[in-house]
Amino acid sequence: MSGVKRIDPRRPYRLSPSGLRRIVLGESSGAGLRFGAIAHSHEKVKPRRAHELAKFWHMAIAHSNRGRLDDHAREAVAAAAIIATLDTGVVAVILGELHEDIAALGADRIVVIPELDVARFQPMREEAVVQALLDEYRPTHVFMPDNMLGDGDLGRRLIAKHDDSKAATQVVELDRQHVSVRWNGGAVFAKSILPRFLLLAPGAVDTDLPFVGRGETMSPPQISNVTEIYNDLGLEPTEMSNIALEEADFIVSAGNGVRNVETIDTLARTLGAAVGASRVAVDEGKFPRDKQIGASGKTVSATTYFAIGISGAVQHLQGIKSCRHVIAINRDAGAPIVKRADLTIIGDAEELMQALITRVEQARNQGEAAEVER
Ligand SMILES: Cc1cc2nc3c(=O)[nH]c(=O)nc-3n(C[C@H](O)[C@H](O)[C@H](O)COP(=O)(O)OP(=O)(O)OC[C@H]3O[C@@H](n4cnc5c(N)ncnc54)[C@H](O)[C@@H]3O)c2cc1C
Repeated sequence: MSGVKRIDPRRPYRLSPSGLRRIVLGESSGAGLRFGAIAHSHEKVKPRRAHELAKFWHMAIAHSNRGRLDDHAREAVAAAAIIATLDTGVVAVILGELHEDIAALGADRIVVIPELDVARFQPMREEAVVQALLDEYRPTHVFMPDNMLGDGDLGRRLIAKHDDSKAATQVVELDRQHVSVRWNGGAVFAKSILPRFLLLAPGAVDTDLPFVGRGETMSPPQISNVTEIYNDLGLEPTEMSNIALEEADFIVSAGNGVRNVETIDTLARTLGAAVGASRVAVDEGKFPRDKQIGASGKTVSATTYFAIGISGAVQHLQGIKSCRHVIAINRDAGAPIVKRADLTIIGDAEELMQALITRVEQARNQGEAAEVER
């Protein structure tokens, strides 16, 4: 690598606590490869963002997924905190269960409404609960991830309900004064003043904050008498292998160190994960081309990426830079993937995969047996 930093001129600026910054491609260490601000937050104790009592409020609203916020939702909370002045508090409204502390994202107050789980379609109830909170806090700005997991839909409902012309969707760039969205097929940015409702596109905000919020847990509002006019038919389970890799939340990925494709398929089925592969594994004909992950393959953003027998070449790492947790199996403790992984198991891929399949099946059988006994 020449050492010259490459900048994509069409890339929007990213909101960070130190102002707007351009994403610099080609970084090989440090910030470029660090993920999961919460996981690293124990490194040093961070100061509280604001000590004064809040005169105003920013509200972030997002659905959780199995008790956690995904990166996009975390960005909405962080945006509310970064933009806040010292007399403005941040209240995070989490729809669904929450099993993590989000004070590190700048949340001063956290309202969790477990029954508004993303797996259930109950828009009238969601709207009523959020409206009660909007009435209580009267936030100057409301931040939501503009996604297909319920938040984009809820955000648009709120905007329509409030007849709020001061709203922006798919916000790619923001600061205290303005927001930008892509316009004219993405060729230019359209800029406007910071509106009340902001639905953020993914990647607009840096979530690694130098401060924390108060993190106080608040009781949710008690809402009754909501008539849901929609009939929720529930979710239909899909085989993980049918899901596009870009949408998969859990990927088991094979590299040149995997000899037996059948074992990795069994492991993926056992864990309920999608299967991906490195370029070498694809070039060898072990996997179809649409399974390739990396610079010349697919870019994935799974919560968990299980890299088995993959060295972690820079071209492969480019494809997994948005994955939250990386687990690796490799027999070489010096392989580059070890630096990127949160957890590495050193050993033979085939042996470890077989052992894992056996363990998971045993645990599942024991769990089922315990369930039957009860
Ligand atoms: C322009 C360009 C674009 C590219 N695009 C991509 C891309 O999109 N995706 C991509 O993946 N690569 C891409 N590459 C290729 C990339 O540089 C690497 O060659 C490739 O990622 C290596 O694949 P691998 O890690 O599976 O294989 P290897 O480099 O051979 O590594 C195999 C790893 O498995 C380990 N291992 C071996 N045997 C075992 C065992 N029995 N048990 C446990 N571990 C074992 C080894 O220690 C090693 O770390 C690109 C290259 C170029 C030049």
